[in-house]
Amino acid sequence: NVVLSQALGRIAPSPTLAVSQKARELKAAGEDVIALAAGEPDFATPEHIAEAGIQAIRDGHTGYTAADGIPELKEAVAAKFERDNGLSYDPGTEVTVTSGGKYLIFAAMMATLNPGDEVVVPAPYWVSYPDIVKLCGGTPVIAETSEAAGFRLTPEVLEAAITPKTKWLILNSPSNPTGAVLSREDLRGLGEVLLRHPKIMVLSDDIYEHITYDAEFATIAEAVPALKERVLTMNGASKAYSMTGWRIGFGAGPKPLINAIRKLLSQSTTNPCSISQWAAVAALNGDHGFLAERNEAFRARRDHLLSVFADAPGLSVVRPEGAFYLYPKVEGLIGRSLGGRMLETDLDVATALLEEEKVALVPGTAFGTAPYLRLSYAASMAEIEEASQRITRFCERLA
Ligand code: PLP
Repeated sequence: NVVLSQALGRIAPSPTLAVSQKARELKAAGEDVIALAAGEPDFATPEHIAEAGIQAIRDGHTGYTAADGIPELKEAVAAKFERDNGLSYDPGTEVTVTSGGKYLIFAAMMATLNPGDEVVVPAPYWVSYPDIVKLCGGTPVIAETSEAAGFRLTPEVLEAAITPKTKWLILNSPSNPTGAVLSREDLRGLGEVLLRHPKIMVLSDDIYEHITYDAEFATIAEAVPALKERVLTMNGASKAYSMTGWRIGFGAGPKPLINAIRKLLSQSTTNPCSISQWAAVAALNGDHGFLAERNEAFRARRDHLLSVFADAPGLSVVRPEGAFYLYPKVEGLIGRSLGGRMLETDLDVATALLEEEKVALVPGTAFGTAPYLRLSYAASMAEIEEASQRITRFCERLA
């Protein structure tokens, strides 16, 4: 009889991983399922990066490394922040490398949260933020953004969510699940509020930085320099370089926080995979030409979906400016029925869509807003064309 910890009792398994798993099982059982549930680029890791990993094995880079990254990778991360974001960090003391970006978020929360500490999480949010906060003993405070504001956090909504217990604000732009991008002006507006609350730290999750279409990426430590000393700027190799399985995340921030995270890493992961770290050095220092090409492919898929869904009865979609997700509202499908079954929630819609038309999407409830569905268009154009037809047919079939 396994008695679980109270900490584990506070969280649920990742719903996006759960839907992907269900889709995999249906596929394995011979069903023709199109899974648009996972946030994973469908491109291969670029050749020069994969080669650097292979070379690392050949060169014997297969032992333990420094807990928070080899100096070569920290140098490459510092150079990336300087080059892409105009941010200067000392690679020796202000940069950290972890086993994936998700673990850096976990490490930052684990290193700083005490019971009762609050973390402001704008909704719709990436599924893991609230649960990571809860796992680490903190309390997530959800700040609802509105579709009318393009799902962007506004200064008013932020101010209303802040209490004397607020320890962190988590920002994610481009956003998973909405694709909303915060402009430099948006960030300055939020910065004005944060400057009035000097104890609040900011975690800027910039993992989709390189996947933008009509908007320019900006990050808060650069847009509001007065905040830099309390911002953890987080990023990683997964999305930009199609390296989800390699597990490399990185970030930069104030020395005391980076020190605390190093201590935690030394007693948990020991170090990020040595081979992946050398591959990430090649990724960050190497040619980035492939990004433009891949972004064009994502843009074509997004545009295809937007044009098909414009005519799908019951769906309404805000045009995403970045990342590779579409977040259609499905209010028009709620209260309708299919085969005598009434769709009452977005979970009902997602379940019926998977069973009836074999398309796996994640219900908006998982991201803290309803009724929506999240569709990841990190899939081939052929799959996207077929899925969009099936989804439209599903909408038309409802009584
Ligand atoms: N942040 C956001 C918003 C994400 O969508 C993801 C992955 O889905 C991550 C962080 C974590 O990525 P990884 O742990 O692969 O670096």
